[in-house]
Amino acid sequence: DNHSSESHTDVLIIGAGPSGLMAAYWMARCGVRARIIDKNSTKVFTGQADGLRIRTLEIFDSIGFQHRVQHEGHVAVEANFWVPSPDGKLFRQGPFCSSKVNESPFHNMLLSQGRIERFLIDSIKEHSDLEVERGVIAETFEYDETLNDDPIAYPITVKLRTLGENEVNSPGGSGGESPQSVPSGLDRSNILPDDWDDLIQKSRSQQTKTETVKTKYLIGCDGAHSWTRKQVGIPLEGSSTDHIWGVIDVIPVTDFPDIRRLGTVTNAAGTILVIPRERQLVRLYVPVQVVDAASNANIRFNRSSITPEMIKERVQAILKPYTFDYKICDWWTAYQIGQRIAPTFTKDDRVFLAGDAVHTHSPKVGLGMNMSMQDGFNIGWKVALVVAGVANPAILSTYNTERQILAEMLLDFDRHWSGLFTENRPPEGGPGKTESMVKVVESFEDFADGLKAFYGASPLVCKLDNDQDPILGYGLVPGERFPPVKLRKQADGNTQWTTRTFESDGRFRLVILAGDVRDATQKQRVETLSQFLSGQLKEKVSPLNRYAAIPGRFKSLIEVVTIHSAPWNETEFFDFPEILRKLDPTMGWDYGKIWCDDACIWDRDCNGKGYEKWGVDRTRGGVLIIRPDQYIGWVGEFEYIDEMTQYLDGVLIRAVCGQ
Ligand code: FAD
Repeated sequence: DNHSSESHTDVLIIGAGPSGLMAAYWMARCGVRARIIDKNSTKVFTGQADGLRIRTLEIFDSIGFQHRVQHEGHVAVEANFWVPSPDGKLFRQGPFCSSKVNESPFHNMLLSQGRIERFLIDSIKEHSDLEVERGVIAETFEYDETLNDDPIAYPITVKLRTLGENEVNSPGGSGGESPQSVPSGLDRSNILPDDWDDLIQKSRSQQTKTETVKTKYLIGCDGAHSWTRKQVGIPLEGSSTDHIWGVIDVIPVTDFPDIRRLGTVTNAAGTILVIPRERQLVRLYVPVQVVDAASNANIRFNRSSITPEMIKERVQAILKPYTFDYKICDWWTAYQIGQRIAPTFTKDDRVFLAGDAVHTHSPKVGLGMNMSMQDGFNIGWKVALVVAGVANPAILSTYNTERQILAEMLLDFDRHWSGLFTENRPPEGGPGKTESMVKVVESFEDFADGLKAFYGASPLVCKLDNDQDPILGYGLVPGERFPPVKLRKQADGNTQWTTRTFESDGRFRLVILAGDVRDATQKQRVETLSQFLSGQLKEKVSPLNRYAAIPGRFKSLIEVVTIHSAPWNETEFFDFPEILRKLDPTMGWDYGKIWCDDACIWDRDCNGKGYEKWGVDRTRGGVLIIRPDQYIGWVGEFEYIDEMTQYLDGVLIRAVCGQ
């Protein structure tokens, strides 16, 4: 019995891995009509990606679930490199620690992809009734290019099929390949309680059902073998090597002293990467190809012939003279390294590709899930705001220009880093190897941790002519993330990181660095800007009324946040003009809108040095516009209101009834 139907949606997301869920988050948050499908019957539970970089954690904070990662995950900041000593044993070099540990409230962490999917799914649920439709596969694609310029048209048609019980796959069991309803090796003992419901496959219709969905936008987040990418004829360029790797998550039984510390171990048998994880688990990345001594060539063998036993034996050989074994294996797999990238991440800014669909590389750089989620994060809000009718479709082209170049950098990093693991020659005298590893990590650190994004000039990024001569401060660069600091709330003295204050709720933020408001001249400048914002400046329309807002969400797409630099106890909440503390006249004041960059006696992270970090004059301050994803869009002086309006006019849609 074959049921078929036709329907419309504004955004269809194919694939509910980390990138698809991140894109879906924005649809949920902005109240957009969207669907998200995945051909697998369940989310991931064990294995796959585990590394979480600083910027990703900041994003989680802006969404609101960073504390869950903090509770469950494992922090890994210092790395040790073990190399052979002249007496044939191993010795430790390190610990090496990034000099950037104070650039963010967060530090690199390890936690399984399955938990991150859990948190994203929960966040989506918190804001909407959008749910992942599982066991649903996209099968045919049509795209009518002639409708491309029509904002209300549905140029894309996708046929979806609900898979029957016998066709559907679960992800991530050991080896991950066999079709079964519950991933192998999983039961309630190694799954956290909030995942139990997902583990038990939801009862589904056993009949195949087809549905024709017409959509305005399509986001392909369907992984390395992306179906969506193939439909739009975008290739993946690059190559794969014949290096085969094993990866294994175990609770180890060993006398190796650093098994709970991040690092590498190198000897003549190869290099392994040791990654301590949550729940006593340790992940080991292990080269499993064997070099033929006579020809010095890799002996070819089939990836599917690899077993956990083989991986264990390789670990034992490399860790010698230390011992290694395990009783519990949570997950393992074998993979072949390939570095591939798509030349473009979009078709006509109607179909977008994110995550593994457009870049694949070895997992050892710990960036796959991070880059994928950051792709989804980047495209999600842009599509959501355009579909909601509040942002100019011109911003959509910035997805490709902002993300593709970063994927190129990712592959470059991977080439350097993985190369150090796979070189066949025996390790040079220990320090040489360690030096090269430290050098690669240091040279890619800003990029890898997401501290720099390198987003270029666009309608969304008003670049200065010369980054060397910043208008406000060297720390506030358009196209980079807003450098987080911890601030005190003027009204109650409580402290909070800006990563949380600038919540990912779809709004742009007009941030007024009000400077020292004890100074009469400065107070007047704040007053004049406030008159502009409250619509009292002659012939100037306030940006708070000028643009369309998403009905039922916020009254304005722009939130005003004030951060002053005067001492906390010499300033009052009521010292600031009404418009800066307004919530809704009928609902009282918004005590969360005025912040103070002053030290806090009971919270050492709040040190009152924000202005210094940003390089901003503590008396004069300045103004900036932060995009919904916390990247800086525009910076200026208090008086640059025309320039600010020009920036916003390029991004947002004028309100119909705006003056
Ligand atoms: P994915 O997580 O691959 O999600 C894609 C989703 O799309 C899947 O759920 C899939 O079912 C769905 N899909 C595909 N085609 C269709 C279709 N036609 N219709 C409907 N749904 C579809 N990264 C690391 O950093 N470290 C690791 O150790 C590591 N190990 C990995 C091991 C395995 C077996 C795999 C598969 C990946 C591993 N990764 C690892 C990579 C990491 O998981 C990815 O970088 C990350 O998951 C990418 O996220 P994504 O959302 O782009 O793609």
